[in-house]
Amino acid sequence: MFQFDNSYGRLPDRFYTKMAPTPVAAPGWVALNEGLARDLGLDPSVLRTRLDVFSGNAVPEGADPLAQLYAGHQFGGWSPQLGDGRALLLGEHATGDRRVDIQLKGSGPTPYSRMGDGRSALGPVIREYIVSEAMHALGVPTTRALAAVTTGETVLRQEGPMPGGILTRVADSHIRVGTFQVFASRDDIDGLRALLDHAIARHAPESRGPMDLLRHVMAAQARLIAEWMGLGFVHGVMNTDNMTISGQTIDYGPCAFMEDYHPDTVFSSIDTGGRYAWKNQPDIALWNLAQLATALLPLIGDRDAAVSEATEVLEGFRQVYATEWTRVMSAKIGMDDMNLAMELLDIMSDGRADFTNTFRALTDDPDTVRDAFAAPDRIDGWLARWRAAGPDHGAMTRANPVVIPRNHQVEEAIAAAYAGDFTPFETLNVVLSDPWTATDDNAAFRRQATADQRVTQTFC
Ligand code: AMP
Ligand code: MG
Ligand code: MG
Repeated sequence: MFQFDNSYGRLPDRFYTKMAPTPVAAPGWVALNEGLARDLGLDPSVLRTRLDVFSGNAVPEGADPLAQLYAGHQFGGWSPQLGDGRALLLGEHATGDRRVDIQLKGSGPTPYSRMGDGRSALGPVIREYIVSEAMHALGVPTTRALAAVTTGETVLRQEGPMPGGILTRVADSHIRVGTFQVFASRDDIDGLRALLDHAIARHAPESRGPMDLLRHVMAAQARLIAEWMGLGFVHGVMNTDNMTISGQTIDYGPCAFMEDYHPDTVFSSIDTGGRYAWKNQPDIALWNLAQLATALLPLIGDRDAAVSEATEVLEGFRQVYATEWTRVMSAKIGMDDMNLAMELLDIMSDGRADFTNTFRALTDDPDTVRDAFAAPDRIDGWLARWRAAGPDHGAMTRANPVVIPRNHQVEEAIAAAYAGDFTPFETLNVVLSDPWTATDDNAAFRRQATADQRVTQTFC
């Protein structure tokens, strides 16, 4: 079914633990992403026959399943060993000039599971499927969801016993900042060099060395974070083990899209200090890149030269990010005027305006924007200046989505799935697959949560 060529499995064996998934009792289909399958040169009708593979009950031909080792800073604190505690890389599917990781998430315990059970509840599987596919439709670099299944087994979570699920995740790779960190922290220079060569070959073949890779990751992350910011997306858990070298969004845990705009917005129940608040995401990306730079330093002979080069790359982040953020916001307001854009955000924050709907109203029917504000004086003045400057409507329609996965909609799809009804999940996926056009079908999904629907906290 897959055309596997497992380059990660040819790296030194301290990089991973090779092992098969743990079988599950009674697998059932939740979803197969046929569009993604075809994009990957896979025949959906063949994949449909392989519930055994997507549930971990069979290892497909050519696979070389392994749990990857990594470390990371979690909420700023160093964890010397993490690794795939509930996931396995089945292998790398190589198709045309593309190579993607096929990973099972929720596939059973590994040596990196620590206290965890190696499993996923169905809810987080549903959430990752919906939100990662929505992000893709919104044009944001992201891991994808190829399949979701139920396991027929129960997992114990804080909420009580929950049905289990397994997600099949597709990624350009699962190399993280924390993958470099684990070898650097162990003074494993040979390992670090092997990882560098592997990462360069896979993600930045034009790179000549560690600082080129750092520059490449810096640029990819600057672009990614600007995209998140422009959609009001709060990742929620930007630990260094959740930041990819590829520049794809990974790890949809406590993530959420803002409704009422405020720059301090945090959803994650464990982010009590607001470290990963919406407005902090660019600074956190830079902090994480500094950890990557630190991990790469031992690969450079001349330490002083290395430190000054790494510093120069990191200092470049703010400029690169500012360029990306300007690009994103210019498209959103239809003109290259960051003063106007920032003033609008300020007015929106004061009025707690819905992030998505305000920008879309500005795009489709600017006369209605003032309706979102209890005290419309400031927005009236802003709108007059904005109109006078002649916004580019075409740019705005391509930058301001009609629908995003609103938290209550995702939660409703999860609750229905737990009750055995996957229709809301399926409907939401269809609606979110075309986020750029207002239709009768997505009208209900454009509405903000009512007071009793509102989700203010997320859990991972
Ligand atoms: P995350 O918060 O998803 O980034 O996960 C952080 C670390 O905890 C990773 O090493 C995961 O593999 C591990 N982990 C999370 N949930 C589980 C689980 N249910 N069982 C085992 N390990 C887990
Ligand atoms: Mg993670
Ligand atoms: Mg509001």
